Amino acid sequence: MTSIVPNLTDYEVWFLTGSQTLYGDEVLAQVASQSQAVVDELVSSGDIPVTLQWKPVVKSRDEILATIMAANADPKVIGVITWMHTFSPAKMWIAGLVALQKPLLHFHTQANRELPWATIDFDFMNLNQAAHGDREFGYIETRLDVPRTTVVGHASDRTVTRRIGTWSRAAVGRAAAKSLKVARFGDNMRYVAVTEGDKTEAEIVLGTQVNTWGVTELADRVHAATDEQIDALIAEYIERYDVAPELLPGASRHDSLRYGAAIEIGLRGFLEDGGFQAFTDSFEDLGTLRQLPGLAVQRLMADGYGFGGEGDWKTAVLVHLSAVMGSGLPGGASLMEDYTYDLTPGHELSLGAHMLEVSPSLSSQRARLEVHPLGIGGKEDPVRLVFTADAGPAVVVALSDMRERFRLVMNVVENVPLPEAMPHLPVGHAVWKAKPDFTTATSAWLAAGGAHHTVMSTQLDPDVVRDFARMIGVELLVIDDDTTVADFHRELAWNSAYYRLTQR
Ligand code: MN
Repeated sequence: MTSIVPNLTDYEVWFLTGSQTLYGDEVLAQVASQSQAVVDELVSSGDIPVTLQWKPVVKSRDEILATIMAANADPKVIGVITWMHTFSPAKMWIAGLVALQKPLLHFHTQANRELPWATIDFDFMNLNQAAHGDREFGYIETRLDVPRTTVVGHASDRTVTRRIGTWSRAAVGRAAAKSLKVARFGDNMRYVAVTEGDKTEAEIVLGTQVNTWGVTELADRVHAATDEQIDALIAEYIERYDVAPELLPGASRHDSLRYGAAIEIGLRGFLEDGGFQAFTDSFEDLGTLRQLPGLAVQRLMADGYGFGGEGDWKTAVLVHLSAVMGSGLPGGASLMEDYTYDLTPGHELSLGAHMLEVSPSLSSQRARLEVHPLGIGGKEDPVRLVFTADAGPAVVVALSDMRERFRLVMNVVENVPLPEAMPHLPVGHAVWKAKPDFTTATSAWLAAGGAHHTVMSTQLDPDVVRDFARMIGVELLVIDDDTTVADFHRELAWNSAYYRLTQR
């Protein structure tokens, strides 16, 4: 397996400290050394997964603009943090903020945590006036309508460093969206509405390229897989999974596993050669492929590839970006589909799965590799990994095309252990409790027009998704412990007015 999830330390966030020449060299030297100490303290928390880069204090319109243009031009830089340690008159920031093309975090902090009450004098006040300087900066950010996340507090506070960490992950997601290429094999499932969408608009909004290839090209590659390649992959399967005895070499259904391995070889090769990080297929359009890709898709998702079934490129995008934003955290990201409920009053549960394609990254247990008939599509029995997602916090996020804009809907959920074994359901699956409760969550989801396909992430803090939506300028509706149906309906009504008034 070859993960395509990046190492987040390869990305940089620049830390810019604003000031002005009025203070004189001695004070500016203190501003520089104290802001370096703030950066050192943030880094030492270990909560920020990207490389935080201190930059020399900016003191004029031209220095600010030059620094921001350099951040724009450097592909490693995925965002900028600003802090006005002293007073930095905000007209100096207009040109830079207008030019800024990277996500912004406004860090409202100060070098000292406690005030030195007994010794404080006016020199101290002049040096430590972020309470004043950051208000001037906030004014110009708001007047220019610059999207940003504001984080407030001292660098020694773990809630502060964790919040900067979640923002950094969102910024990585935005950068990944801009270089993301999605390959679609075939079109959408016939007659389905929510998997449709404006692929041109996706490239304008997200920077993501979504294009289609004939499934014949994929099938040719699958059928060109060699016995040596297949043998090597089967050895890996036997090492990693509990392979059903009937699939083992020499057993009655070993050919089904060999064909599953050939699909993985063909699909992975196609994606690698084309530079794709996400893909879709359609069970209605498999050409000469003899099985619906199951095992291969599951393993590719576990390596960070995005996937959506039935032509659903929007969910494929979310699955890849979630895997990237969750890099290095326990858990994973997967296509998920709301399937069926347990409606026991007060203990309602959702059972999610797909025909085959759920990522084993959701489970820390060793998966079973099995073959069973698929009652849809009219192809041979497909091989698949079978497991239950680990219990613990998760989010499910859907992306819908509302004709005039994209809409993200997120439900914060809790995956739970299986109430009872399900010996007759041989697919990867998850069982969860929706927040704040089943009735509120599902009423709100349906009112929002949220899709039946989602990405389930067991890695992402909901704030990562919030920041990501703000960075890309896409509407996000959140269903969590604070949601009420009445407020949610009001938010839908206000949003429809707001987005019509503000869209380009
Ligand atoms: Mn589906």
